[in-house]
Amino acid sequence: MLRLRIATLALLGFGLMPAMAAGLVGARALGRPDSGPVVSAVAVEQSGAKAKLVFQMTAQAPVTALVLDEPARIVVDMPDTAFILDPASGSAASLGDRGLIKSYRFGQFAPGKSRIVIDLRGPAKVVRAMSEPTESGGAYRLVVELAGTDLPAFRAAAAESARQMAAGGIAAPVDKSKPLVVLDPGHGGADTGATNGDIVEKSVVFEFARALAKRLEIDGLVRVMMTRTDDTFVPLTDRVRIAEEADANLFVSIHADTLREHDVQGATVYTLSDKASDALAARVAEQENDADRAGGLVDTAEAAGVSDILSDLARRETRVLGRSFARSLVAYWREVGELNKNPLRSARFRVLKAADFPSVLFELGYMSNTHDLGQLTSAEWRERAVASVASSIERFLRAPQPDIPAAVAGATVAADGMR
Ligand SMILES: [Zn+2]
Repeated sequence: MLRLRIATLALLGFGLMPAMAAGLVGARALGRPDSGPVVSAVAVEQSGAKAKLVFQMTAQAPVTALVLDEPARIVVDMPDTAFILDPASGSAASLGDRGLIKSYRFGQFAPGKSRIVIDLRGPAKVVRAMSEPTESGGAYRLVVELAGTDLPAFRAAAAESARQMAAGGIAAPVDKSKPLVVLDPGHGGADTGATNGDIVEKSVVFEFARALAKRLEIDGLVRVMMTRTDDTFVPLTDRVRIAEEADANLFVSIHADTLREHDVQGATVYTLSDKASDALAARVAEQENDADRAGGLVDTAEAAGVSDILSDLARRETRVLGRSFARSLVAYWREVGELNKNPLRSARFRVLKAADFPSVLFELGYMSNTHDLGQLTSAEWRERAVASVASSIERFLRAPQPDIPAAVAGATVAADGMR
């Protein structure tokens, strides 16, 4: 049985036009040249151990396909290409739960370079990856044809790709044109965060952040930085400062706290607000804002006075974008994990006070809940969860940034709610 899915501008036009229009304007605002190939439609065919991705393009382009392991994926590199496609067209949810291709993403990878990342459900080889004229002429298509293979052959191909990348510099060096996400694993050092038995929050969230950073780095669509790369205590203001000094485009603080209500479970995304959305959010913020004391830092003048001016510091547009990312994160997470019954909450979190980039605090789950704790300590769960968070970050960072006109940012926010 052949499964065929087509996403075109025309077909998706009814609900997604604002997103596409915003994407176009955003791409120009971000300085993308208008001259490169434009991809306006994609079709996916999957049948048994075979799969084919066909992108409709306005020009022919040289492509390179590489096989990557852990997790299994294929990356296809090409010159700067504008993808006028709904980013969600490649999500696991829209591709279904069968076939070699689990999901795919696309975007600018480095100046003058674009990349398609194809997540695999099993070991596969590249049968064909090329751009060619269509039979009817005048148009072009990029065809990526895959077939299932055995694990030793796949691993050998991945090792060969790794050698090529190392030798040819295919993996771009640090490239400042790519947007930067700063991952902030909560707590560290003397500040253990929540504990349940011998499980400590600082380690759970660090492992998660490290796996997420690795995944984002392999995808190569965004730059990643962590506020701590080992088990050290980092004061809250330093976490924000690290992101500010690095000129971050997005800040994601990662936590897994305990609550006295042991039945409360599921992931929750917190954003900054002057007034807490509810009593639970207020309490979580209070707990998190106390991290400096837990880490042994004497209350500084800055810490004491800062909460009063949080709302002045974080610009309104920044907060709007933060909420937009929070909604997108929840939408992606829904595909793989469990959400709190009220997954979007807000309060005065000191770590979310940056004015120049959107910030969220993501509670992966609550260590006080037995079910959540089981997931938080499962490597299999982490792999799935990391994939969905990575996709949502990549999608958000390819959308317009805060420095583009407010009307465009508004369109993005509205479209985001429609997915
Ligand atoms: Zn925490």
